[in-house]
Amino acid sequence: MKIEDNRLIEAEYQPSPNHSGHFEREPDTIIIHFTAGGSRTSSSNWLCDKRAKASCHIVLGRDEKISQLVDFDTIAWHAGRSSWLERTSLNKYSIGIEIDNAGKLKKSGQEYYSHFGRKYDRDEVFIGKDGIPWHAFTEWQIENTVKACLALKDIYPIELILGHNEISPGRKVDPGPAFPLDYVRDKVLNAGRKDQGDESISEDPMALASENLNIRSGPGTQHPILRSPLPKGEKVKVMDAKNGWTKVEVTTSGWVSSRYLKT
Ligand SMILES: [Zn+2]
Repeated sequence: MKIEDNRLIEAEYQPSPNHSGHFEREPDTIIIHFTAGGSRTSSSNWLCDKRAKASCHIVLGRDEKISQLVDFDTIAWHAGRSSWLERTSLNKYSIGIEIDNAGKLKKSGQEYYSHFGRKYDRDEVFIGKDGIPWHAFTEWQIENTVKACLALKDIYPIELILGHNEISPGRKVDPGPAFPLDYVRDKVLNAGRKDQGDESISEDPMALASENLNIRSGPGTQHPILRSPLPKGEKVKVMDAKNGWTKVEVTTSGWVSSRYLKT
């Protein structure tokens, strides 16, 4: 996939009036959603309707086509009330990808139905650990989410991929347990990183956190926080260092201020 002039060249362009101005800073986050709708075209049409007061950048269909509704340099309206660590209102930091999917299903007898009454075959249903049925995503949708994210990462400084449920907990459930978010994150955010062999890992020096530390995706406070803080006293593996920041490995790796690390 390729992006030219802030549009995916593979996508059908259907401009939505639901957007704000250009991003003030380049987007570094991708938010994944499901449409909870019946088709790519019906969801795209609704997101192009002023009454929806909502939009996104691209919609990945079950028909193996992509619609683009808002240019990638422009703020779309997909996240709504949302927060991620120190940030609120994620629209101004993020690209919104909607995936054509009916969402949570209801079982009635041996059959599964969407909230709009369509019936689904068992092979289109994903049963969560808690027994709740969800509409399954297609393999094409998952692989093309990865491709779209990689194409975005080529152009914009993408450092985070989050589900809508992660930035609006309690209010939103998409993309839900049927979507392999960790797989997509790994394919996109770890792409091109060299594998560390066992030898180099054992040679990495250790350090102790002398404060609770924010773990950022890059060396500087302009980079987003990746996870809950590293607790004071935690032992971490030192991976790299530059400009007063040290890259450490916990369960995820990220950057902390060197001032608060005892080596
Ligand atoms: Zn959503």
